[in-house]
Amino acid sequence: MRLKIREDKEETARCPFCATLIKAPEEIKTETGGFIGGRCECGAVYVCDPTGHNVGEAYLDALTYACGEDFMTFDSLNAGENYREAVFNYDLRAHKLWEVRDIRRDYSGKIIFIQLGPQ
Ligand SMILES: [Zn+2]
Repeated sequence: MRLKIREDKEETARCPFCATLIKAPEEIKTETGGFIGGRCECGAVYVCDPTGHNVGEAYLDALTYACGEDFMTFDSLNAGENYREAVFNYDLRAHKLWEVRDIRRDYSGKIIFIQLGPQ
């Protein structure tokens, strides 16, 4: 599921689930390395892929982070059933996000939001 924020570019970065302004992502260390991300007030997590080339990896990092690295929870996850996701183009330096028009051709940096919970 892809949520629309607005047709035009947002001036700032907001959480797509609660519309709260999110803090600039920071480096988060994990056992498997680390990623750039953060957590919103509503409990949604976000992971940034500044290159736009490792979206799959960033997506997995986001899911793992959302679960608190609890792999029992991780194994029971189903998109649209017990978590919501949203992907946007993201400019790490400007801390701005905007809608992805074509995920296969759009190689801007990305930000992935995951919010756990029943739908
Ligand atoms: Zn939020």
